[in-house]
Amino acid sequence: MKKILLALCTVLSTGLFSQEQVTLNYYLPQDITYDPSIPKPSEIIGHEVGEWHVTHDKLMFYMQTLAEASDRITIENRGTTFEGRPILLLTVTSPKNHSNLEDIRQKHLALSESGSAGTNLETLPIVVYQGFSVHGNEPSGANAGLAYAYYLAAAQGPAIDAMLNNTIILMDPSFNPDGLQRFAYWANTNRSMNLNPDGNEREYHEVWPGGRTNHYWFDINRDWLPVQLPESRARIKTFHNWLPNILTDHHEMGTNSTFFFQPGEPSRVHPLTPKMNQELTAEIGTYHAKALDKIGSLYYSEENYDDYYYGKGSTFPDVVGSVGILFEQASSRGHIQESDNGLLTFPFTIRNQFTAALSTVEAAQNMRTKILDFQRDFYQGQRDEAASSKTKAIIFGDEKDAAKTWHLAEILHRQKIKFHELNQDVTLAGSRYKKGNSYVVPMNQKNHRLIKAMFEKRTTFTDSLFYDISAWTFPLAFNVDYAELTSLANAGPEITDFKPLTGAVSEESNYAYLFEWHEYYGPKALNKILNKGIRAKIAQYPFSMNGISYDYGTVMIPVQNQELNKKELYNFLNEVAKESYLKITAVSTGVTQGIDLGSGDFEAVEKQKVAIIVGEGIRSYDAGEIWHLFDTRYDIKLTKIDTEYLGRTDLSSYTDIIIPGASGGGGLSKSNAEKLKEWVKDGGSLIGYRTTANWFGQQEFLDLKFKKDTLVAKNIPFGKRNDFRGAQVTGGAIFEAKIDRSHPINFGYKNNRIALFRNSNIYLEPEKDSYDNPIQYTASPLLSGYISEENAELIKNSVPFKVSRMGRGRVILFTDNTNFRAFWYGTNKLLMNAIFFGDMM
Ligand SMILES: [Zn+2]
Repeated sequence: MKKILLALCTVLSTGLFSQEQVTLNYYLPQDITYDPSIPKPSEIIGHEVGEWHVTHDKLMFYMQTLAEASDRITIENRGTTFEGRPILLLTVTSPKNHSNLEDIRQKHLALSESGSAGTNLETLPIVVYQGFSVHGNEPSGANAGLAYAYYLAAAQGPAIDAMLNNTIILMDPSFNPDGLQRFAYWANTNRSMNLNPDGNEREYHEVWPGGRTNHYWFDINRDWLPVQLPESRARIKTFHNWLPNILTDHHEMGTNSTFFFQPGEPSRVHPLTPKMNQELTAEIGTYHAKALDKIGSLYYSEENYDDYYYGKGSTFPDVVGSVGILFEQASSRGHIQESDNGLLTFPFTIRNQFTAALSTVEAAQNMRTKILDFQRDFYQGQRDEAASSKTKAIIFGDEKDAAKTWHLAEILHRQKIKFHELNQDVTLAGSRYKKGNSYVVPMNQKNHRLIKAMFEKRTTFTDSLFYDISAWTFPLAFNVDYAELTSLANAGPEITDFKPLTGAVSEESNYAYLFEWHEYYGPKALNKILNKGIRAKIAQYPFSMNGISYDYGTVMIPVQNQELNKKELYNFLNEVAKESYLKITAVSTGVTQGIDLGSGDFEAVEKQKVAIIVGEGIRSYDAGEIWHLFDTRYDIKLTKIDTEYLGRTDLSSYTDIIIPGASGGGGLSKSNAEKLKEWVKDGGSLIGYRTTANWFGQQEFLDLKFKKDTLVAKNIPFGKRNDFRGAQVTGGAIFEAKIDRSHPINFGYKNNRIALFRNSNIYLEPEKDSYDNPIQYTASPLLSGYISEENAELIKNSVPFKVSRMGRGRVILFTDNTNFRAFWYGTNKLLMNAIFFGDMM
């Protein structure tokens, strides 16, 4: 206690007082000189660091100016965000290293290859990747980057020279440009000239959805493994290009906390992460502690945060021989706020981040050979494991869906994992693998542990608490068939030139065209066809013709009596096939084995007009995932209607309305319920997700029977109450359901089982009539991840899906998130089936 009081006093004596004008000197070490020819941030951006929140435009402008002024810095643009902002990278090192950079990079990469045992580490620089504010409304990191980049460019003396000689710094000034811009706008537009620390001030209460996420409201700090978003694609390329030794990720947390640096919870480290990784993290931590002691800042370590899910920036590096480090600074959110630790100023939060950035490179320099050696050892250990692996390869594929399989291979490609073609069609363990729709991944390769991290299933854990999801098994997320192989007998040539997807129409037809619904981009094709005013019908039963079998849900486009003539239709469908990467087959007769093409069992499908409810009371992540799916994958227009004006919106033109997970039923009122019921009765399809189940139940949209646990905390000490509660959270695990493939909700799925992602504890009793349960969890459904014993009991034979008619419309409920984080390709079709085939249910 005494220590803390003492530390507090130091903060007050060296701290910045609330209304005091901040200067650059507040952040910078004062025992050295700075090159006067290097422009200071305020000279370029028009305000002092910490006086206002830097916008991304200004941040970018300053970094470009610095790169021009300093021979220590080069800058590159690695792509653009969804909103068109550049994704910048600064490479900072000594001018001498700059003139030799490619050679240094090659030597650095060689350390992770065989034959590096004798490499002299004394002459090799260490590579440090520093990234700031991946959550846009955690801005102290990106704002600290201004002062930090200035320091790197302008600091003079032997210490900085030595550091630059020994270190390659990859500086990512803003991990989330769109989010940073959105938050800066909020904080700045609400800033008073007389800074106001009152927590009730609007400045500290951002409007929905806030600046944390990217354009489509994704948490980009969950995308390091699946790499579905442009920001992460740019940075994963940088990562593999350099294999940095340390990667830091600067965040913010609650206003009343202090400063956190890893290692976090010792019991919550992924088992594939070597122990030495955590030991190095702890040793690096001693540098942060020392530096923060010096400026009197409070901090903690080894609590709260974990190192489990490899999709996080501070954890991904741990499975590829690097050391990932998370920083969390108490957030002033705006410019100054009252807190348990006194007045928390924005400059104070920036200074802590700046200090940690500096202590990182100090640790890197002092621990250089040790950390380089760790990296070399990591890859050697991995090579040994890979060479002796009993599993020699993994095969995955979907004989009816080339695009989905391609997208899984695309992730491997981005993660520098090698894979091969399948040499010929083969049936393994009851699954058919088709050449062109399947890939073989050899286990004996460089990123062996990364492959394990992506493909393995885990159901036993040393801890029952998880900061994020506990399972992400990729072949389950994609719902592809996969198997472990004991030889490479099925492997064809390695795919070194990973070609984009293609599509085509087999030939011009005078009668009809067919395509199966299994292909991932089928909904994109159907939407384009219907929007063009072309009639299409959906097969309610399988059939076969010309030796090809067509499954439930096959789309049939007759040639006669369409808006387009025969030639125009062919040309149009060719365009559709190319854009949707699928094969459309021309047929010349209506005779089939099974339902003929003129049968009443081909049902007409209507053009859809879809809206989604967003805004206060709705989970922005879930809404963003759906928006992203429609907008970037399927090119389907989606109208976002805010809960704030839903009540006065004319809904009559919409065929479907989606309610993503509601947060506590929040934004939806009883009058909203009445309005939506009227709309459903007039023929609309209302589709609700996750916690919307509760609202659907309360407002009598559906007759739901929830399975509840009767758990009581027996013999649990007060001090353990959080662990007890936390253990009941299903933070994200994968479960198996059996599906009725003849039900339109399951059209496009070729197996009788499906893997579903679940991060809720809503358990519904099945209906009495079995055909009313087209998707039902099995009696032993856990495939991968953590669930408590009590909840494991509840999920057995429960149902994650309900559909019920109401008037001329229907209400549809999914208790699980089928669109999770843009990489759960395997269940994206369920929502599309609800949209296009709702009328058939
Ligand atoms: Zn964060």
